[in-house]
Amino acid sequence: MRPARALIDLAALRHNYQLAREISGAKALAVIKADAYGHGAVQCAKALQDKADGFAVACIEEALELREAGISAPILLLEGFFEASELALIQQHDFWCVLHANWQLEAVLKTPLKQPLNLWLKLDSGMHRVGLCPTDYHHAWQQLIQSGKAAKLTKMSHFARADEPDCARSREQFETFAQATEGLSGEVSLHNSPATLAWPSFKSDWVRPGIMLYGATPFAQAQSQAARLQPVMTLESKIISVRELPIGEPVGYGGRFVSIKLTRVGVVALGYADGYPRHAPNGTPVAIDGKPSRLIGRVSMDMLTVDLTDLPQAGLGSRVELWGKQVPASEVAQYAQTIPYQLFCNLKRAVRVYAT
Ligand code: PLP
Repeated sequence: MRPARALIDLAALRHNYQLAREISGAKALAVIKADAYGHGAVQCAKALQDKADGFAVACIEEALELREAGISAPILLLEGFFEASELALIQQHDFWCVLHANWQLEAVLKTPLKQPLNLWLKLDSGMHRVGLCPTDYHHAWQQLIQSGKAAKLTKMSHFARADEPDCARSREQFETFAQATEGLSGEVSLHNSPATLAWPSFKSDWVRPGIMLYGATPFAQAQSQAARLQPVMTLESKIISVRELPIGEPVGYGGRFVSIKLTRVGVVALGYADGYPRHAPNGTPVAIDGKPSRLIGRVSMDMLTVDLTDLPQAGLGSRVELWGKQVPASEVAQYAQTIPYQLFCNLKRAVRVYAT
């Protein structure tokens, strides 16, 4: 079998979930949208279900997949619904639902419901993507209360720049939230991963950790709490071919790496069709049989090339870690000018293997 595999360490996932709870002192909705950021939503939900307070996904299709797999815990729809007709399924499966736009609010007010819903009313506190305007928030809240459509109402917002150390904009967003929701009694949910790790002074009853569950730091720089995370995914494959190149020889498509000394090149069975970023440059870190090395040459669809020159023991069959426990996904992401979120979500073809 082709050796490209993503090993998923479910014990690490549970550790990271527990850490989110411990740091925040709050209940935690494990964000497992987008197939748990490429880690497998059903497997991750099953691994967490005996301890998770609930789960969060983007949309009803993702929520239904979890219910069909037997997950009975609360599931919040982070984007709410896209058409009012989804409200029937939301009731039937007892999904919790974000309302982030006036049209969603109106749809809920207009639609006859068999039973009231668990609703999370989202405020645009400054990210300016979705959420109700601060000036509309109180009125919307009162309308929901008076309509009897809400069994429970939670105040919610989302930070745009919580990953930036001591960013004034995060404080402004928090203040906007505090003002816009003043006097409204209900639980609060503000924190994504960077806010959970770096902004414990803001208080949430519910945190919504995503990337930290998977053990990757959302920060560009070292951060003390993020250092406690355990990587969940290890992307690995093997060396399937080795060659020695004299000085001045190019490697791979476009000849983007040219040897400046006698160079041993290892060919790894993993490429951009598995989700490894094609634009990762020469020098992107890898680990070969546990030892640090680097990518050389352009990433192909099914293969990539690494430098074996200083690793005389390495050769055919050597294990290559592309990211994981030895090579942080966030470091690879920085080299490839992206974020670990995208690396994980892009994973495909490489077989996922789960360890409990
Ligand atoms: N909450 C909301 C509303 C989100 O959209 C997301 C992810 O995009 C999260 C929480 C989780 O974010 P993170 O992965 O940074 O923890």
